[in-house]
Formats: sequence, structure tokens, C-alpha cells
Amino acid sequence: MADIVLDKVSKKFPDGTIAVRDVDLEIADGEFVILVGPSGCGKSTTLNMIAGLEDISSGELRIGGERVNDKAPRDRDIAMVFQSYALYPNMTVRENMAFPLRLAKLDQATIEQKVEEAAKVLELTPLLDRKPANLSGGQRQRVAMGRAIVRKPKAFLMDEPLSNLDAKLRVQMRTVVSRLQKRLGTTTVYVTHDQTEAMTLGDRVVIMRGGAVQQVGPPQELYDHPHNLFVAGFIGSPSMNFLPATLEEGRLRTALGDVPIGDRIRRELSRADAPRELILGIRPEHFEDAELVDEETRRRGIVFEAPVDIVESMGSDKYVYLTVEGERATAAELKELAADAGAADFTGVGSHLVTRLSAESTVTEG
Ligand code: ATP
Repeated sequence: MADIVLDKVSKKFPDGTIAVRDVDLEIADGEFVILVGPSGCGKSTTLNMIAGLEDISSGELRIGGERVNDKAPRDRDIAMVFQSYALYPNMTVRENMAFPLRLAKLDQATIEQKVEEAAKVLELTPLLDRKPANLSGGQRQRVAMGRAIVRKPKAFLMDEPLSNLDAKLRVQMRTVVSRLQKRLGTTTVYVTHDQTEAMTLGDRVVIMRGGAVQQVGPPQELYDHPHNLFVAGFIGSPSMNFLPATLEEGRLRTALGDVPIGDRIRRELSRADAPRELILGIRPEHFEDAELVDEETRRRGIVFEAPVDIVESMGSDKYVYLTVEGERATAAELKELAADAGAADFTGVGSHLVTRLSAESTVTEG
């Protein structure tokens, strides 16, 4: 068993910076978990504490049920993959991949067999005798992965492993990483600042901000039920649009008009402690050109006119940049558009209500 448990784990650096605060996280055996968040949110520090590269200031870290706070990195039986690949330039691919097995003092025949096996999985067999300088970025990263998987560790820890690759290769390598993880079934913690990577790779995503966990859940759950404004704005590309709203006499007022609200939201908002000042969140794909939709759709949404700044054609869909109440808003996945640039009628169906009061307040689904 190689589950990883963080119990109120914090990191305070000697200069007083609190990089990670009270992180509670249970990663199941075989699970693929992504740590994501903006620069400086503490994701690398969290990963480094799991690896043993940073001391834990307070809290407890358990791997496979055992407290490992004071265990040296080499005794934790985990493998790390870095953004920089960290390959030895003078060694061939074969030697690079064999390195951790040599350190573990395995016999030559076993080493060769394990390297061949890993090379096959990662389609590196024809490249085994090359040096890293003669490989492409994607191939180098596969060698770095190969070096991690040869010794079947308890867990893989990956810190932005794809961020040095160009966009197309990154997408290809995402599939490689995802397949590899499924095939090996090894517990994996993967750090990225790229929310698309987070949404497409992991079983569960941990969103961090300012050293604290904001929300943990499967990607779709984070998208559909963000717990706060930060998560709502961070997950999804283009980002969710926000519009101030107030609750008055059971009606949700916005500068664009009253928003029809469903029973569940009405019930939540009618609680005595429910906030009156709200933020209405509208996913870009929930806008439609009002001239092209039926009466029923118009009734369910708010119909408003907004100047269209730019229309970007993405091939099958269009992205439309609008000015709504003086703020930039983005509409996406529009199949058609009656007008190109200029004024157009839109209907935006509110997908979320996000209270503005605190980072912890709830979001209600629309
Ligand atoms: P990035 O995506 O930019 O790598 P991150 O989310 O991985 O960011 P960390 O590297 O974990 O963030 O850093 C978290 C916070 O801790 C930041 O504010 C950073 O400046 C601070 N920090 C990191 N290392 C140290 C250190 N050795 N001493 C003091 N502060 C540090």
C-alpha cells in the first residue's frame, strides 16, 4: 500500500514565509492527484515535503501508513520527475535509466531487463544508445520518466514535467503520462500551474492558493461546483465571467436584468444567513446569441445587448469578446453569430452564484 496522507502539514521558511499552511490531504493508493494553483501558491513546496527535499515545519506526513517526516528522501521509495529532466549528459539513455538501479545495487542482468521493459513502455527502445544531447525535448522527458519508473517506486512525484515542451508536444506527452500512470497504477502527485493539464490528467485535483487548499475533487466536480470565487475563476478556459448581483424581494437583480432562479437556489438564498450581495458567474459557453435561440431559452436567461469587441473563430466554434457593464466578458462555443463585430443581443444563462463575502462561502448551481 502506498497511500500518501498529509495531516495539517505546514511549511515555514527560515525568513518567516509560510509557504504551506495546514494542508490536509489523503491520496489513495494508485491515485493520480494534481496540485494546481498560481505561481507561489505552495505546490512545489508541498511536493518537496512529500519527497523529503524540504523539512516539514508542523503536521504529519505518512506514506503507506508510516510516518516519514524525518525519513531521508532516499529511504522514502519514491521517484521524482522534474521540469528540467535532470539527465546525466555524459550517459546514454540506457545508462541514465539504469542509474537508480545501479544505486540500488541490482545485478546487471536484472538492470538490463528492467531498462528494456521501461524503454518498451515509453517507446524509447531505438534510442537507448543515444546521449541526451541528441534527443528532442519530448524524448528527453520520456527518458526522465523512464528513469523514474524502472525501479517501481511507491509513488511518483512530478513537478511541472511538461512545461519545457512546446504546446503540441505537451498535449502528446499528457497522453503518455496519463497512459503510463494507468498502466503502472502507481500513486502519483503531479504539480502544474496549467489548469488544462490539471483538468485532463488527474483523478482528483487539489487547488491551492496562498499555501492553503481551496478545494479538492474530480475535475468535473470542480468545474460544476466550485466552492468559492477563486476556484470558479481558476478552473475553465476561457474563465468564468462574473457579474455583481443582489437579492431583493426574492429576485436576483443584476445590471443586465433580473435573473430567473431555480427552486434550489431560491431555497438557499432564502435562508436567514444567506448573503444579499452576490456574484453571478456565467461560464463562457452559457452565452448564446439571443437572435438565434428559441423563446424558451430567452425566458430562462437574461437577454441583453452588448457591444462585441472581437470575434475569434476557432474553426467549429467562435469566441466572442464582449463589453458587459464596462467589463470584459467572454462568450465561447458559439456555433453561429448573427452579427460579426458591433452590437448584438445575448442571452446569458447564469450557471453559478458565487457569494463575494469570503473565500469559504458556498456557490450555488443554476
Ligand atoms: P511556482 O509555480 O512559481 O513554482 P509554487 O506554487 O510551486 O510556485 P512554491 O515554490 O512552493 O510555489 O513557493 C511557495 C511560497 O514559498 C512562495 O511565496 C515562495 O516565494 C516561497 N518560498 C519558496 N522557497 C522559499 C525559500 N527557500 N525561502 C523562503 N521562501 C520560499
